[in-house]
Amino acid sequence: MGRRGARGRGTLVRPGRHILVTGGAGFIGSHLVDRLLAEGQRVVVVDDLSTGRLENLAAHRREPRLEVKSQRVSACRTLPKLAREARLIFHLAAAVGVELVVREPVRTMETNVLETEALLRAASAARAPVLLASTSEVYGKSRKAYFAEEDDLCIGPPHLGRWAYACSKLMDEFLALGHARQHGLPVIIARLFNTVGPRQTGRYGMVLPRFVQAALEGQPLQVYGSGRQTRCFCHVRDTVEALWRLAHCPAAYGQVVNVGSTREIRILDLARLVKKLCHSESPLVRVPYAQAYAPGFEDMQRRRPQIRRLVRLTGFRPRIPLERAIEELKEERGAARQARG
Ligand code: UDP
Repeated sequence: MGRRGARGRGTLVRPGRHILVTGGAGFIGSHLVDRLLAEGQRVVVVDDLSTGRLENLAAHRREPRLEVKSQRVSACRTLPKLAREARLIFHLAAAVGVELVVREPVRTMETNVLETEALLRAASAARAPVLLASTSEVYGKSRKAYFAEEDDLCIGPPHLGRWAYACSKLMDEFLALGHARQHGLPVIIARLFNTVGPRQTGRYGMVLPRFVQAALEGQPLQVYGSGRQTRCFCHVRDTVEALWRLAHCPAAYGQVVNVGSTREIRILDLARLVKKLCHSESPLVRVPYAQAYAPGFEDMQRRRPQIRRLVRLTGFRPRIPLERAIEELKEERGAARQARG
């Protein structure tokens, strides 16, 4: 257990050479790697760099405790050995972003299902503890005020592309829990709600980096739909703290756990907040969903986690304010624009 320990005695994390992080060059993955290295761990990253970027790990370029394998999980021939020697595995490799998912459904499903299948098979054979990152998207279009882990899920029909993502991640969850039951795999499923912070790209659809970029460039902030839909944004460092603590909590194994903030904000108000913090004169424009994504696109009007289970297991609740993520993104984008001249 590291210096900022999790609650509870004992741990399923075992002696081993390294912690394996799939998707470790991605937005959340790279913040997790920062944290693991800061904890003194050796880390092996497997990432095919399809949406992740080596730049995200640039701060560790000369770090001897970090090894990066730029390949797909399923193509990694040393995966069984990496799993055998792992103290713990964080499986974050996945297709991300609503826009990418709508545009490339086959890639989304294949990445999410086949890569996870390969990872779980290796982890099961090695009996390596796994924390699998899932998503709040699996709750689908449930209209509940809070989503709790044991709720029924309400996923839309297959002719609407968005739901391919939810189904593929749900398949991952079933597969992981299946390995737990059938093969005794110690596995935790963390359902991540909207996560924000530095290094997040707007390229695949995420709202906050897009708004910040537009505000800094004096471009319109495009608010999809009515803008009255709400989301709860969790700072990525809080997400990482939650994942680290969960992984060290024996009672979390075999469970699904929501990870997210409970502060709810309307997307229209988010746009206004970004404009204010970026001192921007950008206009806000409303864009119909059909134009933003595809005809018939269905959006969730609310998406708020119940985090009782996370708090009970780890004693932790997210606390970094949304404003901090906006400020950090603003600074990062400002520095990048300056570097480009
Ligand atoms: N959204 C928006 N403008 C954008 C991108 C997204 O208004 O440029 C909206 C989107 O329709 C959704 C919310 O912001 O209601 C959050 O979108 P994101 O893709 O970040 O996450 P998710 O839909 O997965 O919660």
